Amino acid sequence: MDSNPDPGDTKLKPGALDGFPIPSVRSAIEHASPPDTADQLSAQWARVRNRLQQDVGDLEYRTWLRQMTLGNVDGDEVTVHLPSRFLRDWVRGHYADKLNALWQSENKRIRRVDIRVSGAGASAEPSNAGRDGPGLPGDALADALDESALDRMEDLRSDPARPEMAVPLDTRFEFDSFVVGKPNEFAYACARRVAERPSSPGFNPLFLYGGVGLGKTHLMHAIGIELSRRPATPIQVAYMSAEKFMYRFIAAIRNQSTMEFKEQLRSVDVLMVDDLQFLIGKDNTQEEFFHTFNALVDAGKQIVVSADKSPSDLSGLEDRLRTRLGCGMVADLHATTFELRISILEAKALRAQAQVPPKVLEFLAHKITSNVRELEGSLNRLIAHANLFGRPITLESTQEVLHDILKAHDRRVTIEEIQKRVAEHWNIRLTDMSSARRARAVARPRQVAMYLAKQLTSRSLPEIGRKFGNRDHTTVMHAVSRIAELIEQDSDFGERVELLRRMLES
Ligand code: ADP
Ligand code: MG
Repeated sequence: MDSNPDPGDTKLKPGALDGFPIPSVRSAIEHASPPDTADQLSAQWARVRNRLQQDVGDLEYRTWLRQMTLGNVDGDEVTVHLPSRFLRDWVRGHYADKLNALWQSENKRIRRVDIRVSGAGASAEPSNAGRDGPGLPGDALADALDESALDRMEDLRSDPARPEMAVPLDTRFEFDSFVVGKPNEFAYACARRVAERPSSPGFNPLFLYGGVGLGKTHLMHAIGIELSRRPATPIQVAYMSAEKFMYRFIAAIRNQSTMEFKEQLRSVDVLMVDDLQFLIGKDNTQEEFFHTFNALVDAGKQIVVSADKSPSDLSGLEDRLRTRLGCGMVADLHATTFELRISILEAKALRAQAQVPPKVLEFLAHKITSNVRELEGSLNRLIAHANLFGRPITLESTQEVLHDILKAHDRRVTIEEIQKRVAEHWNIRLTDMSSARRARAVARPRQVAMYLAKQLTSRSLPEIGRKFGNRDHTTVMHAVSRIAELIEQDSDFGERVELLRRMLES
């Protein structure tokens, strides 16, 4: 998820969605009959849409399908665009077969319908929601939202099933909506402290780091929002992604306005730059950032920076910059724990005023472990689905609605990885995972590995057995129940297994 480029998507040519598709020349070569004209295709598309609407009913159509636009028609493939990943996944998961069938009945040539996310700005209804920004002051820099935030807003805007989610960004990324637990309490406290008293010694710069989707951007926005709410002492806050910083810098060079660029940056009281790892390998921008950084810190202004690694691990950034980055407060956002994930889900469900059974929350917290954004996205999808169809959320509906996400997560951990980690943990040889040795010192870890394989992958018992030296599925079954028993009886042992599970999942 997150800001990873969507591998299935290509950028649309500008204007490709405005009119109608240009039938490709290739299709004329590949097929004996002449290609359909743009007019024919647009008529076919209109009929496909109409029939789809009749088929699924007005409500469903308006909710999920109305924003579809026709992309290219290339040979036997037609591309249909939707304005967000959320909608794309939904339509792929629920309407792909219907779309295929309807297209084929309209046009024999079509064999495949490709459902994609349209390029930025290509949505059916132009909106400036994405440009409004988080409401931070600092004129020239106010539009500098990071890409992932834009992405999220795009999703919110085009998710008609959840009007209550479409609140402005500034309320979503407050301190109040940030759920605090062991893994993030230190980073949270530091962020709060900076928001209360910017530029205090020891907290400048504040360097937040941690993996994707753990709340770095959220905390930075929260600092900005908090500061902007203080009417008594107006504070100029600028927030931008490192990428944006670079583009602005390049634009300034091109427009011969680097002086203005520098002055603007140096005139803020708080400068926040998100995802600094982006500057690795961008030497000129790094240099410029370094000078800005020094000028601001020397003038007693606050800097907040985030990255995916600690300053010392950001190899590829210049040494002198790394050194300075590490001079203030460095705070790590650790991977979430099960408890934190539960708290986050509870908070989000409450906010959405949705009834989600505890069993479902536990299931999600157990399955989706690496990334809060994904956790949140899954919950949102469940709630949207429940609202739309007026059905309560249950464990069964969860498994159905999140089918694709859950599958992707299952695939993440392999049995080989589990065997390797478990063998390392108990200091036995990897080959003993499949050997016939029955000594307790070897057999117990092997059982743990089988147990974890059952828990963390979607492999069947016979499949797991095969990976453990061709053992029978009943052996695996026995291992699973024996380990479950031991976890209950022996809390020390239980913690070890839990630790292994977390390591494997993170
Ligand atoms: P990062 O910048 O570290 O990749 P984000 O700050 O963008 O992550 O967080 C991803 C999503 O998860 C956001 O929607 C954010 O609000 C949410 N999130 C992350 N951590 C928490 C938390 N502790 N409490 C509430 N929401 C969180
Ligand atoms: Mg971020």
